Amino acid sequence: MSVYKLVCPACGNRMRIRNSEGQTPVFRSMYAQCTHIPCGATFSGSLSWDYALSPSGLDQPRLALPLAPSAVRKQAQQDFREHTDQLDLLDAVEATA
Ligand SMILES: [Zn+2]
Repeated sequence: MSVYKLVCPACGNRMRIRNSEGQTPVFRSMYAQCTHIPCGATFSGSLSWDYALSPSGLDQPRLALPLAPSAVRKQAQQDFREHTDQLDLLDAVEATA
């Protein structure tokens, strides 16, 4: 199983999320700090969920996002298959637990 770590845009090392605040069920503000001491950059940003690729299996989900357009779903299927195609923002690491 893979988990994803944030990557510092300044130096490429790992960043730690220092604080985050949910603004809505699909939008969260975040503050992160680079863990590479000589860099030490800090950033503010956000995380949002835009579409459902597949709907929740619950009878009454708290929220239902619009189903992604077919082009987005097609891209997601390709991304799930291509493990080497990581975004610069995130880095995959193998979970040890
Ligand atoms: Zn850095």
